[in-house]
Amino acid sequence: MDKLLLLGDEAIAQGAVDAGISGVFAYPGTPSTEITEYIQASKEAKERHIASQWSSNEKTAMETAIGMSYAGKRALVCMKHVGLNVAADAFINSAITGAHGGLVVVSADDPSMHSSQNEQDSRFYGKFAQIPVLEPSNQQEAYDMTRYAFDLSEKFGTPVLFRITTRLSHSRSGVKRGEMHPQNELSLPSDLKQFILLPSIARKQYDVLLGKQAAFQEESEKSGYNKLIPGKDKSMGIVACGIAYNYLMENYQGEEIPYPVLKIGQYPVSRRLVREFYDQVDSVLMLEEGYPVLEELFRGILDEGKPVKGRMDGTIPRSGELNPNIVGKALGKEIAEGYPVPSVLRGRPPLLCDGCPHWDSFGALNEAMKDYGPGRVLSDIGCYTLSALEPLNSINSCVDMGASITMAVGAAEAGLVPAVAVIGDSTFTHSGMTGLLDAVNRNVPVTVVLLDNSTTGMTGGQDSAGLGKLESIIKGIGVDEKHIRIIKPLRRLHDENVKVFKEELAYEGVSVIIPRRECVQTLARRMKLKHAKKKETKESVNN
Ligand code: SF4
Repeated sequence: MDKLLLLGDEAIAQGAVDAGISGVFAYPGTPSTEITEYIQASKEAKERHIASQWSSNEKTAMETAIGMSYAGKRALVCMKHVGLNVAADAFINSAITGAHGGLVVVSADDPSMHSSQNEQDSRFYGKFAQIPVLEPSNQQEAYDMTRYAFDLSEKFGTPVLFRITTRLSHSRSGVKRGEMHPQNELSLPSDLKQFILLPSIARKQYDVLLGKQAAFQEESEKSGYNKLIPGKDKSMGIVACGIAYNYLMENYQGEEIPYPVLKIGQYPVSRRLVREFYDQVDSVLMLEEGYPVLEELFRGILDEGKPVKGRMDGTIPRSGELNPNIVGKALGKEIAEGYPVPSVLRGRPPLLCDGCPHWDSFGALNEAMKDYGPGRVLSDIGCYTLSALEPLNSINSCVDMGASITMAVGAAEAGLVPAVAVIGDSTFTHSGMTGLLDAVNRNVPVTVVLLDNSTTGMTGGQDSAGLGKLESIIKGIGVDEKHIRIIKPLRRLHDENVKVFKEELAYEGVSVIIPRRECVQTLARRMKLKHAKKKETKESVNN
């Protein structure tokens, strides 16, 4: 079979295609976006009619995948770690319904918060749902484990959580492919009540889930993704989870690791392997990306056992992602600090792109807000969040997807009138629509600025779910048509736009202003594609 040079995300995508999925369901979010994009571009996925359109949000993605699994086919769900919070309701309940066709949920964690609001560790969600969790240490494992995850899911009739982190998602390595698995035929679960979570059935299903726990552990012992690697120097043993194992190996290139190593790639971890490992070493060094999940277990509440070093005692920094140097230092190695960072690379605050429509939207909003003073603009998550920084200084919050409208409603109800919510078109269909319905039902004086750049700009220009339908959605939610205003965010229309903002800020009800102009990045890509197509057609005509 071919060997491909793949990102970790792409290795998962190829693994899923080769595992015979019939659908991938996702909302874009760094560092998980490339999984779905790879499948969307894959010729094999097209030939196999694999469904791959973006979902409105992570919860709808999760629920659609549960539906596909119910129908007996294999489904992949992908999201970034904070997306799993959005999908949590469906995700936790999927552990109770169980899976029929293989159901694998990829959650891409972002330690160091390269493009996220927090560092949460998805392994906790796996434990919370009480389902198996897989954590690859490199791209080849990401590919192999994805295939294994679908087999595991069908073997135990359970969803499987697949946890990766940024560095693995976004780095490349050679990956050897295996045989392609045929896609499952349409079929229904043998127990047609399995997916009905009425209390009496849910209680039964919950017992079924609890009954599987011993088998999950047993599987962890045999799968080979957890293994105890012997070492001569027993003064210390190393527990290396997921990509941390790769960082450990980088510190011993061409030489044997002198210490016993417990390599963890599958949870719940094998008690037998942990016992065998712990009994032979005098102290333990924990290497895990994210929270000290296993470190806490190794220490226990009283912390009276053998010395355990890791994130909790400061051997490893408590926050931020791991890297080979941090691991090397924890091993007591002399680590060269490297060259100083050139000043040109330092301290450059992120900025909206030149020509981005948001510049003109915020320029007009800022001017209209001068009449009311600062501190009234609640924002959401997208490129426009950068307007919190100099020189715009336009917004005052960014909490989670969809929180701008609901926070503005709360602020207005507290008396902060007018309150303004800023949200993007994609975020609006992700989780802003229900907030707008609350605003309408409460009839609070809130002005919603719905920045429509016709794309999901922040994650690279995926289609937004509300494309071409925003006005009808807003009207359907109940906003008075007279207070749905479309403006074109352009410098030359500045005065006109300020006037619209002022009028709606003065209105004592719910209004929505839609500044509409395409993201310049998406526009440039679209134009390039158009020219390439034109050229291709011309050439084929001439030939
Ligand atoms: S990617 Fe698009 S929306 Fe984002 S800052 Fe650049 S132009 Fe603006």
